Amino acid sequence: MTTELFRDDSYLNVCDATVTGHGERCVFVDQTVFYPLGGGQPGDTGAIRWDSGEARVVDTRYVDGNIGHIVEEGATLPAPGIAVELAIDWDRRYRHMRMHTAMHLLGSILLYPVTGGNISADKSRLDFDMEDTVDKEAVSEALARLVTEDHGVSCRWISEEELDANPELVRTMSVQPPRGKGSIRLLEIAGVDLQPCGGTHLRSTAEVGAVRIGKVEKKGRQNRRVNIHLDD
Ligand SMILES: [Zn+2]
Repeated sequence: MTTELFRDDSYLNVCDATVTGHGERCVFVDQTVFYPLGGGQPGDTGAIRWDSGEARVVDTRYVDGNIGHIVEEGATLPAPGIAVELAIDWDRRYRHMRMHTAMHLLGSILLYPVTGGNISADKSRLDFDMEDTVDKEAVSEALARLVTEDHGVSCRWISEEELDANPELVRTMSVQPPRGKGSIRLLEIAGVDLQPCGGTHLRSTAEVGAVRIGKVEKKGRQNRRVNIHLDD
């Protein structure tokens, strides 16, 4: 299993690692800062460097339960056992973190079940199970206020036993935690949101910066798609 350094520190953009094996066009290592596609957040891109070479990572995904660093076609792969440096494209990932954190804020404003979502560096969307019309101006204002108020964002692991011993925690969560894995990673935006989430987030909501609500689309009678954009 790959040690997932990004889970405890989403601001790590580079790390040393040892190659543990290969898949098709993909490199496995003992530990990584690369986030694999999941929870609506894209896999990281970046580079793997070693003494005699470098390979461009074009995507990161779970492959057979391990984090696979997918390299560009025709790239030379570093041999198993050798030391490498892993570096993510930080500008792109940081935008994913801003977007991802903004999505949590949006979910705390529109208190409807979320049926889908997708994050990218330029534009993201969240789908809500709702019939009401979205008041775009009010949502924009509420979002801007949460950013300005600069709420702290933190993650912590909790065991299923701890969760069972604190049922009020589950009641305050906007999404029910998945069971059966032993421990659950909770994302908390102080005073705003608490829910299980495995993605990469900011340290504070102020870092979301210039965010704007885009088009609100009606996708069926009971589905509203809210688009958000970063303005820089
Ligand atoms: Zn999250």
